[in-house]
This record gives sequence, C-alpha cells and structure tokens, in this order.
Amino acid sequence: HYATNTHGFVGADLESLAREGAMNALRRIRPDLDLESQEIDADVLESLQVTEDDFKEALKGIQPSAMREVFVEVPDVTWNDVGGLDDTKERLRETIQWPLDYPQVFEQMDMEAAKGVLMYGPPGTGKTLLAKAVANEAQSNFISIKGPELLNKYVGESEKGVREIFEKARSNAPTVIFFDEIDSIAGERGRGQTDSGVGERVVSQLLTELDGLEELEDVVVVATTNRPDLIDSALLRPGRLDRHVHVPVPDEDARKKIFEVHTRDKPLAEAVDLDWLAAETEGYVGADIEAVCREASMAASREFITSVDPEEIGDTVDNVRISKEHFENALEEVGPSVTAETRERYEEIEEEFQRVE
Ligand code: ADP
Repeated sequence: HYATNTHGFVGADLESLAREGAMNALRRIRPDLDLESQEIDADVLESLQVTEDDFKEALKGIQPSAMREVFVEVPDVTWNDVGGLDDTKERLRETIQWPLDYPQVFEQMDMEAAKGVLMYGPPGTGKTLLAKAVANEAQSNFISIKGPELLNKYVGESEKGVREIFEKARSNAPTVIFFDEIDSIAGERGRGQTDSGVGERVVSQLLTELDGLEELEDVVVVATTNRPDLIDSALLRPGRLDRHVHVPVPDEDARKKIFEVHTRDKPLAEAVDLDWLAAETEGYVGADIEAVCREASMAASREFITSVDPEEIGDTVDNVRISKEHFENALEEVGPSVTAETRERYEEIEEEFQRVE
C-alpha cells in the first residue's frame, strides 16, 4: 500500500513518513505529553503501536521531494564527449546554440529561433548526451524531465507540473527543457496510452506553453523519442517541436569515434586497435560501446587485483593495461542492442516519419 502511494518519495521522505507516523501514534495514546520538550518514558514507547491510520495521517502532511522541486542543472558534457554524429551536432548548434548566442543575427535576418526540437533515434544513441552538450555549450541551464515520471510523480497534477517546469525555465533562462521519452506522454491523442486521459491533458498544457513562449525568450524545448511515429502531430506543427533531428545507430566510423571518447583516459595495451573494435561492433550503439569499455576495464582490474598482494601494489599499478583479450571478453559479455531486425524496423519507422513530416 505504502509502496504504491509514495510516488516521487526519496529515502529522506520515507524516513519522515515513518517518524511522523510514530509521532501520530504517540499523540494518540498520550495527548497530554508535550512531544517537543518532554522526555518520553521507556514504558510509553514500549506500549506504542503505530496503526495504519497514523501512517495515513502522516502521508497527508508529507510531500515527496521529487515533486516539490524542478531541478535546474548546468551539465558538464561537452561536444568532445559525444563521438561521431557530426551532422547532428552541427544541426543542434545552429538550431539551439546560435539563436541564444547571436540573437541579433537572427533578428537581422528575420529568422525565427526554434522553440522546440524533436530528437529521434533508437535508445542509447546519445540523445541525452547531445541535449546536455548543447545546453552546456550554449551556457544554458538544463531541466530534465522523463516522460513517464511526469505522469507518475505529479499524480493528478501533471498539467500543473508542466506549468511549473516552464515557469522555472523562464525564471532561469536561458534554459533547455529536456523531455525524455516524450512518446510516453504525447502519444497520438485519443490513442489511449493512458486510460485516464492524463496524457491528453498534459499534451494540451504542453501546446499551451509552447505557443505561449515568446520568441527569443531563451527557453528551448528538446524532446526525445524512439517512436517518432507515435507523437501527437499537433506537437510537431510549426512553432512547436518543428525541428526534427535524427540520431542514428552509429556506423563504423562513428563507432570508432565513440570508442575514442570512452578509452581516452584509459591505459590500453598496444595491441588494442580502435579500428578493429569499430569493425567488430556492428549494431552497437553508444551506450553499448560505453558498456564494452567499462567491462574491459573491469576485467583488467579484476585480473590485476586478484593477482597481487594488496600491500605491494605501489607503482606496479602504473603498468596495468587493458588488453585485446579483455576487450574480446567484453564483446562477448555485451552484445549489440540493435539487431539487424530491430534496426530495419527503426529504419522503416524513421523513413515513414520523414516522409510525412
Ligand atoms: P539516449 O538518450 O539516446 O537513450 P544516452 O545519451 O542516454 O542515450 O546515452 C547513454 C550513454 O551512452 C551516455 O551516457 C554515453 O556514455 C554513451 N553514449 C551514447 N551515445 C554516445 C556517443 N555518440 N558518444 C559517446 N558516448 C555515447
């Protein structure tokens, strides 16, 4: 019961809930005690039984932290942390960074700054990374909202949640608002992703906010999805999420660049060849490549740690290297997340989307 009624609660909120429940029980059995200043006798505590009603009462008074706060951050991801995707980076730079950096040029040229960008592509291809990089490079604040979270965290108040997010963004401008997995809230209206119509109300609110954004108000919405075909078309119209950026499964060249990013601070044995790794990893997306590099480092660490006397590590750690074999094992552990079959399906969806957009 409590697990399902405590959406958005963090550990500290649960602790408060437990404490308040106990306090309610104390107030109930000993209304005469002044709980703030009086010591409570051990026998009172021993006879204390916290009932369901005590907890229910406590639940009314505690707001989950996650709901109170729309977190604003300044990401530290740079363009250099994103491997490959050169065209995508360029598009984002021109669409998001330039209007923020050179508003006078856009005015002079009578060009409209983008209010919203939809990034689409399979999971793990670097969409979140790109959004953070563009916010950082444009020296913008960043508000990150996961679609499903918006529905769960603000139970019954999702539209209010959307309003608060935009308010917060405006008062912290320039701001990039990042809606991850937007299809979970903005699936085609009426298609019933959610039964209660919450999705529909949230989309309406999103439309209102997007339409209300003054041009060059320095708030840009970046949304992501791996199902662009499911997005409510009203959201994609001009003046809304009207810039569409494809983030593809990386080709061999891009994979090499992603391997470069994830091995640049790691000690590699000479035999480790990034061209070879790129050639061996058809169907691997950025997130898979990161996992391969992590696995290989872990294998090298494991081998070293289990073979030395902890007392005698000293400088010997300087000679530890990640070998080709470690990578071979890692490739067996971590498979490609995009198989030929799913890739074809994504390509079909994407082509269809590009055709109608
Ligand atoms: P998405 O948002 O498309 O699902 P993410 O941006 O969250 O994917 O990627 C997850 C992780 O995978 C990133 O934190 C990063 O470590 C790695 N990654 C994905 N794409 C790339 C890339 N192009 N270059 C470097 N790392 C990447």
